[in-house]
Amino acid sequence: MANEQNGIDLGVGAGIPPVRFHVDWERDAHALRPTAPTPTGVVYVTKPSMPPLWEFDELLADIWRRGHITNGGHYHKQLEQRLAEYLGTPHLSLFTNGTLPILVALQMLRIRGEVITTPYSFPATAHSLVWNGLTPVFVDVDRRGNLDPARIERAITDKTRAILAVHVYGTPCDTAAIQEIADLYGLKVIYDAAHAFGVERDGESVLNAGDLATLSFHATKVYNTVEGGALICRSRAEKERVDYLKNFGFAGETKIIMPGINGKMDELRAAYGLLNLKRVDDDIARRAAVAKRYREGLADVPGLYSIGEAPGVKANHSYFPIFVDARAFGTSRDALHEKLRDCNIFTRRYFYPLISAFSPYKNLPSAAPENLPNATRLSEEVLCLPIYPDLDMSDVDRIIDAIRTAANIL
Ligand SMILES: *Cc1c(COP(=O)(O)O)cnc(C)c1O
Repeated sequence: MANEQNGIDLGVGAGIPPVRFHVDWERDAHALRPTAPTPTGVVYVTKPSMPPLWEFDELLADIWRRGHITNGGHYHKQLEQRLAEYLGTPHLSLFTNGTLPILVALQMLRIRGEVITTPYSFPATAHSLVWNGLTPVFVDVDRRGNLDPARIERAITDKTRAILAVHVYGTPCDTAAIQEIADLYGLKVIYDAAHAFGVERDGESVLNAGDLATLSFHATKVYNTVEGGALICRSRAEKERVDYLKNFGFAGETKIIMPGINGKMDELRAAYGLLNLKRVDDDIARRAAVAKRYREGLADVPGLYSIGEAPGVKANHSYFPIFVDARAFGTSRDALHEKLRDCNIFTRRYFYPLISAFSPYKNLPSAAPENLPNATRLSEEVLCLPIYPDLDMSDVDRIIDAIRTAANIL
């Protein structure tokens, strides 16, 4: 809230003293740019990419002038169009987060029964099945963490209706093999492509694989709208249905086509998203430089593995997972996680525990660790290292040194 001194009151909530600082757009521009290095030497696994505040401020002023703040306004339309162009996915529908489009995709395709899915993902993947009254059937993953097509067929029963796969860390699944199985058994395929923003294989967006694909624009993702997401449809008619579904099912003032939900992105986030879209190529290039430095700095460390770059794939470097073979490395993954934490380097164990190990799932027959040996091993070995556009190369070097020190090979 503006006060009389042209300041901004950043204090909210009872008991919190208001923080006031004077805003002079010219002079304080740098301080307000969220690119200033973290002064304390603390490095988190990620840091959201944010547009300069003054750019957002201009769009906010325009939104205030228009007085249209949600329900498919000016910025919503623009962002849908620009994202569709940027991603090469003409029929894209925006959502308020990346979980709702998975829920809506399952509703759209009217899936009932069992759905084959991966245990090696963020819980939203399997939760979306349960929220649709579906039974997740976990199938093991390959060495990159993606659903292994060779194991899908064995898990198919007469109740199987669909496959819900994830392009983990943005590495494309073997979409051709998955489609072949789906065609053979008459199954639908949905990709939770939350990690795969902008990823292409042989010049084609991976979002175009399967019957439907979903994206997340959460703050932790390569491209963010604070919270947000999208459902990638295959036709105009399909997108139109999704647009109705994300607005309670309204297909006109007095007509409801289906029991819909509220998943509409508001104008503020859409405007913010437009500004971040201008930066995303640069963000991905900066992530690529960090990934390259890690690869070079860690290549000779025994017992450490990373996921190689797949041929023909335009990667987005959304994560930099390493896998720690404790015996060869000399220290366990968890001990390395703690040693790095002691150096103020905060890594994350994505994905540990497996979804199949969480209480809502662990009693499913397919959740038995013996059924999921690769996923179990990856989840015990994985550590995602910090990677984000503003990560300083000196911090990357410090992280590499800390890992080498832990391995006793400095
Ligand atoms: C982030 C993520 C989601 C959920 O997205 P939200 O935008 O946080 O709802 C779903 N699946 C995967 C694999 C994710 O990483």
